[in-house]
Amino acid sequence: MLTAENLQKAYRRQAVQVPVINGLDLEVKTGEFLSIVGASGSGKSTLLHLLGTLDAPDSGRILLDGKRIDNLPNCERDALRNRTFGYIFQFYHLLPELTTLDNVLMPAYIGHSVTGWWKTRSKWRARAMELLTRVGMGHRITHRPGQLSGGELQRAAVARALLMSPRVLLADEPTGNLDTATGDEIVRLLRELNRDDGVTIVMVTHNLDIVTATDRVVRMVGGVVTEDTMPKQSSFHAPLLAAV
Ligand code: ADP
Ligand code: MG
Repeated sequence: MLTAENLQKAYRRQAVQVPVINGLDLEVKTGEFLSIVGASGSGKSTLLHLLGTLDAPDSGRILLDGKRIDNLPNCERDALRNRTFGYIFQFYHLLPELTTLDNVLMPAYIGHSVTGWWKTRSKWRARAMELLTRVGMGHRITHRPGQLSGGELQRAAVARALLMSPRVLLADEPTGNLDTATGDEIVRLLRELNRDDGVTIVMVTHNLDIVTATDRVVRMVGGVVTEDTMPKQSSFHAPLLAAV
């Protein structure tokens, strides 16, 4: 479904080129829950940004359903970011002056013209409410981010990522700022969305415990990915697995 072919990406620091992605190939299958692990600085975030068209590779291609998406004109790329991909970040990136409900509605505000929004707003509000209830945040809709815990902020961010019914969720260390129990809750929620709604998920993490809840693990080393040999679904994380 989502394919990276021979990707290369370097960052420029003054006159120095720092290569980060070096001829990387990856295939994400429809409905898969894939995790990407690797040392800090190994390029995991860079790869996720490339897959989600938040950044462009220096060379190589990214394909969605066989169609190239790394070189789209801006308007098509914006539509893809708004409707096809959902993004979840370690630090949530909710807007502090908006309520939980308005934060979740943000992709719909952005994705519509003023009149388009006006005509469909009650439908979007109902959907946002339904998602907030689903992620256990139905009782926090008028709170602002400053009044929420880390776990609640990430739940709101998950609801926002789901608003436009994306086919692919890209999650960059979604539990990185949470305690173990709260992080497990978020992964359980992602697993449920993957299983019940068929959302394809690519999750970057350096928490080796939570990868046991995913279908497949790849590891970033030297700017490429290798299939991980780590035993998945071991009894190591039995409580989490039992719950999903
Ligand atoms: P990870 O997410 O695995 O920790 P990143 O993809 O964030 O790794 O970063 C990979 C490497 O690229 C690091 O060495 C980082 O310092 C560098 N890097 C990331 N973003 C930038 C940037 N915008 N400009 C310059 N260097 C960057
Ligand atoms: Mg990172």
